Amino acid sequence: MMAQYLALKQQADGCLLFYRMGDFFELFFEDAKIAASVLDIALTSRGEHGGVPIPMCGVPVHSAEGYLARLIRAGCRVAIAEQTETPEEARKRAGSKALVARDIVRFVTAGTLTEDALLEPRRANVLAAVCTVRGMAGIAACDISTGRMELEECAPEALAAALARLGATELVRAEDSAVELPEAAERPARAFDSQRGADRLMALHGVATLDGFGTFSRAMLAAAAGLIDYLEHVGRGNLPLLLPPVVREASAFMAMDEATRASLEILSGSGGGRKGSLIEAIDRCVTSAGARLLAEDLAAPLTDLAAIRARLELVSWLHDDPLLRGDLRAVLRAAPDIGRALGRIVAGRGSPRDLGQLRDGLGEAQRVQTLLAARTDRPALADGLIPALGGHGALIDLFSRALVPAPPTERASGGFIAGGYDAALDALRDAAGNSRRAIAALEARYREETGTPSLKIRHNGVLGYFIEVPARHADRLMLPDSGFTHRQTMAGAVRFNALALHEEASRIAEAGGHALAAEEAHFEDLTARAVSAREAIAQTAAALARIDVAAGQAERAAEGGWCLPHLTEDTALAIRGGRHPVVEAALVARGERFVANDCTLSPRDRLWLIGGPNMGGKSTFLRQNALIVILAQAGGFVPAEAADIGVVDRLFSRVGAADNLARGRSTFMVEMVETAAILAQAGERSFVILDEVGRGTSTYDGLALAWAVAEAVHEVNRSRCLFATHYHELARLAETCEALSLHHVRAREWKGDLVLLHELAQGPADKSYGLAVARLAGVPAPVVKRAKSVLDRLEKGRAATGGLAAGLDDLPLFAAAIEAAEEKVDALREKLGAIDIDSLSPRAALDLLYDLKHEL
Ligand code: ADP
Repeated sequence: MMAQYLALKQQADGCLLFYRMGDFFELFFEDAKIAASVLDIALTSRGEHGGVPIPMCGVPVHSAEGYLARLIRAGCRVAIAEQTETPEEARKRAGSKALVARDIVRFVTAGTLTEDALLEPRRANVLAAVCTVRGMAGIAACDISTGRMELEECAPEALAAALARLGATELVRAEDSAVELPEAAERPARAFDSQRGADRLMALHGVATLDGFGTFSRAMLAAAAGLIDYLEHVGRGNLPLLLPPVVREASAFMAMDEATRASLEILSGSGGGRKGSLIEAIDRCVTSAGARLLAEDLAAPLTDLAAIRARLELVSWLHDDPLLRGDLRAVLRAAPDIGRALGRIVAGRGSPRDLGQLRDGLGEAQRVQTLLAARTDRPALADGLIPALGGHGALIDLFSRALVPAPPTERASGGFIAGGYDAALDALRDAAGNSRRAIAALEARYREETGTPSLKIRHNGVLGYFIEVPARHADRLMLPDSGFTHRQTMAGAVRFNALALHEEASRIAEAGGHALAAEEAHFEDLTARAVSAREAIAQTAAALARIDVAAGQAERAAEGGWCLPHLTEDTALAIRGGRHPVVEAALVARGERFVANDCTLSPRDRLWLIGGPNMGGKSTFLRQNALIVILAQAGGFVPAEAADIGVVDRLFSRVGAADNLARGRSTFMVEMVETAAILAQAGERSFVILDEVGRGTSTYDGLALAWAVAEAVHEVNRSRCLFATHYHELARLAETCEALSLHHVRAREWKGDLVLLHELAQGPADKSYGLAVARLAGVPAPVVKRAKSVLDRLEKGRAATGGLAAGLDDLPLFAAAIEAAEEKVDALREKLGAIDIDSLSPRAALDLLYDLKHEL
């Protein structure tokens, strides 16, 4: 057995091996140790290997799914080795001591799940394959639970941001590829071949050319090849649902890197789940598919004005018509998740219930279609969705006739094909029914014949049908000529068989077996029908999701008094009465009020420096404006009274290191790496929020860096920017940067207490309230008092010496400094260009080097 186990383990590719033994999946060696600790189950041992006991643990087959889910969530991959023959078959094949044959029947990995129980309903489950071809990175991503597949190409530097948008739960990479993805599964490089990718896709979708789907680069096709190869490997040759690939143009979406996504808590809060995230605060979708699409929208806000406006038009239409919205949402609420049902069916793991869900969901889609079609004032997007919502009449009709109203998830025991659908099946069921009635008649007859009114005909899994009488009446039936044969003696009861009973029972078993086979055949047939309509069904699912998202956005907007944003091509960002949806919800839950604030950035006033006390609301203000931009470009209403937004191409959010201690790397290093990315990438159409950048180091370093970064963003990147800082000295930037202005969050001291007003005002912060905040936070009075006297001394020192910023008075302008440096470089460049190297003597060359060095 160990030899068989080790051979399978070899094939398991580094996955944990679930080795089926009877009613358990057993794990051995290292696998057992990992599983026991992740699952918190007992680690035992069994036998010996090389003289040491073999660690072992096991989980019952019937509850394996729950354990699998926990292992997958902990980042494990699992290979499932099933018994592929019965013990009898093994004995027939190889004698009495034969080992049952086993084989890996599937791999369970985070990115290749289809089981309802293992998937989160409101989150897409993305698997992405990555490779590089001629210096470009190719990404192929799919969600096999719904079949969505997309291909993208980007420069290797942009790969991290592209993967952050996809939020993949599992990554695959080519073995020798240059991309570094430590967690990714590896596949041989030859699997990532672009020609093969094109061939596979064409074969998969039965087309002779991919032109109809879009234009694909070699990197995209190579990644697609790798993705399909991995899916085939994991599915042991079976491919799941894959819809025609869609090309993702990176420029169609607002670029956000991973740090930005994390700091804005768009799809997950600081705890990792939805709690505290933007999506949790705005998701009013009534279907899981809608919630998944909303997450996708928020992860990838659009940059194309026409596309954004089309979405907004639909939301606005539903916003203004609460009755229609209510009707649509009522229908949608009843609609099952047909996208995922289809995913299971195509993957060969469908159940009768999944078929029933298709029938019901497609029916609801027809109702949505009718509701929309009845309106004449439809916006263009709704118009476009109408055809996708219908066209399934024949399938709905077939499934309605074929299936019982609520089909079971289990198909082994039948009972899901409706009566009247198949006359032969009905006859088999009748035969079984007749025999059951005959058995009831037999019971009456035996009672009479034996004079035992307490005689019963019963049924169990071991004996089948049998006759049972209390022990004290058993003697009569025991007589040799009684016609009964003894089967079992129990405490207090004795069990018998009889010829007539045996015959009826056989008839039931036979008819039942035939009926099951008939149902199974129908199941195959219905499944095939669904599979052949898979693309149209997937389109219907997508259309339903889009309507759910729009209606949910409209609902949320109506609930919170949100406004329709106005998007433009310019670079303004004018938000009146903006609010932070997550902070506001938390405050309202505590019975407090959120103070709305304006943000009015324009080309002439594009960088706001924001000061004021800690806890004054700076971070909240920064983030609310970034979130409003995301919501607007995702095509939804925004929490504000009015919003004019010049489309943002890239959004950056950075938080100073002190807020970020959870990370492992030197936090200041992280802060600087992230800041460097902004300075390298942000442009005039970008929006940047910087929260206390520079805080992660000493005061002097920090001030100097904050100063230089603010200047660079103002002079070079020229992005719209909100910069929160507690360095008062930065206020002096306003003297030299003409498009930079000063703002602060207001606070007041009242009877010695600090009152934070959370209100933004023009001008520099008048003073810092550090000590007042400390008191507010409960720092003991003597400590605060002592701090006060230290502060007085420091301030006196500052007055005498000019303090922290004393040396800044004759600092040249950023532009002038850069210009001077560039002039020097230009002069050097000119000199170098003028040298005729071939005519130089070694002596003259040496002199020239001295000269050049002197000029530096
Ligand atoms: P800072 O960045 O200035 O330290 P935060 O933005 O973190 O301050 O805000 C601190 C707390 O103040 C928030 O958790 C919230 O409870 C409250 N707050 C922030 N902004 C507002 C606002 N506009 N209205 C009401 N309360 C607010």
